[in-house]
Amino acid sequence: MKKLALLGSTGSIGQNTLDVAERLKDEFRVTVLAAHSRVSELLQQCRRFRPQIAVVSGITADRDLEKSFAQLGVELLCGADALEKAAQQADFDLMVNALVGAAGFMPTLAALRRGKDIALANKETLVVGGELIIQAAADQGAAILPIDSEHSAVFQCLMGEDPKAIQKIVLTASGGPFRDLPAEEFPRIRVQDALRHPNWSMGQKITIDSATLMNKGLEVIEAHWLFGVEMERVQVVVHPQSIIHSMVEFIDGSIKAQLGLPDMRLPIQLALLYPRRLDSGLPRFSFAEHNQLTFEEPDLDKFRCLDLALKAGKAGGTLPAVLNAANEIAVQAFLHKRIRFDQIPCLIEEALIIHRGGGRVDAANLLAADKWARRFVEERVQNFS
Ligand code: NAD
Ligand code: MG
Repeated sequence: MKKLALLGSTGSIGQNTLDVAERLKDEFRVTVLAAHSRVSELLQQCRRFRPQIAVVSGITADRDLEKSFAQLGVELLCGADALEKAAQQADFDLMVNALVGAAGFMPTLAALRRGKDIALANKETLVVGGELIIQAAADQGAAILPIDSEHSAVFQCLMGEDPKAIQKIVLTASGGPFRDLPAEEFPRIRVQDALRHPNWSMGQKITIDSATLMNKGLEVIEAHWLFGVEMERVQVVVHPQSIIHSMVEFIDGSIKAQLGLPDMRLPIQLALLYPRRLDSGLPRFSFAEHNQLTFEEPDLDKFRCLDLALKAGKAGGTLPAVLNAANEIAVQAFLHKRIRFDQIPCLIEEALIIHRGGGRVDAANLLAADKWARRFVEERVQNFS
C-alpha cells in the first residue's frame, strides 16, 4: 500500500483526493492529513482515515484539541512550521500537495530533499521557486507528478516520447466567465460573478485566478519548469468547453491531445497510481453530449494578468515570486471587496516594476521577495480603502 501525506485535505483538491483514496482503498493508506484552520472538518477526516499525524497550520497548540485527536490515535501538530516538520519527519511515500499559494513551497522542498515523490496540485510552488524544486527532485531522484489538469494532459501526451521531439506545449484555457465581457465592464464585476466558473468547481483563489486568466499565466510557468521547455514554446489557446485538457505539438507537426470530462479526480488518480491505471468508477465522457470543440486566441490586452505572468516568467529570478505574492494579496483584497476586479493587475504590475531583484535565486531570497511583495500590495490596498 502506498502511504500518502495529504497537505490541504479540507480544500477542493484535498477532498477530491480523499474521494479517490476511498475508491481505491486497497491501494492507499493516508498517514498525514493537514489543514489550515477548518479543525472540525479535519477531525471528521481523521475519523474516516485514521492517519498517524494531523496538522493544523493556522492555529497554535491547544491541549483540548490535542486530546480530541489523541482519542482517535492521531498526533496533532499545530502552527506555521508544522507543515514543514511533517514533511521532514512523517512516514509517507508520496506527498499530495493540495495547499493553495506560496505556503506550499517550503514543505515541498523539504519532502523532495528526503527523496519523497510529490503529486503536485499547488502550482504556486513552481512559480515561486521552480528552479530549486526541479533541482532538488533531480538531485534526489524524486518524481513530481502533476495534478493540474493541463499538466497531467501534457504529461500523458509525453508518455513514450523523446523530450527532444517537442516543438511546443499548448495549454488550453476555458477563458473564464468574462471571456465575452468587454473590458469597459471589468470595473463593475462583482465577487459573486467572478466566483462563477463556467466548467470547474474549485477553491476561491484559483476561481478568481481563472477569471483574470492569471491561472493560465501561472500554468505556463509551471509547464516551463515541469517539462523543461522555454516559456516561449508554451502557447495558450482558449478552449471554452474544457474537454481537451492540453496538447503537445512535436517537431514533425503531429499534435497529441488528452481529453476527458472536467473532473479533477482523473488527474489526481493518475498522479497517485502512476504508472498504473485502474477503473475506479468515475463518470465517462460522451461524444454525443460534447459535440463541439472550439478554439480562439487569448486577449492579452483585456486579460492583463496573463500578460504580466508571461513577462515575469520570462524575466525569471525573483520576479515570478513577486508576481505570485502580489496576486495572492490582490485576490484576497478583491474577495474582501476592498479593491475592484480591474485593480488586481494594476497592483501586480506596480509590485513588479518597483521590486529590486538580483542576487542568488535561493530559498531565502525567494521568501524575502514574497514577503516584500505581500507587504507592498497590502500597503497599496490600505491607501485605496
Ligand atoms: P482550496 O482553497 O479549496 O483549498 C486549499 C487548502 O489549503 C485547504 O485545505 C486549506 O486549509 C489549505 N490552506 C490554505 N491556506 C493555507 C496556508 N496559508 N497554509 C497552509 N494551508 C493552507 O484550494 P483548491 O482549489 O483545492 O486548490 C489547491 C491548489 O491546487 C491550488 O494551488 C490550485 O491552484 C491548485 N489546483 C486546483 C484545482 C481545483 O480544481 N480546485 C485544479 C488545478 C489546480
Ligand atoms: Mg489547471
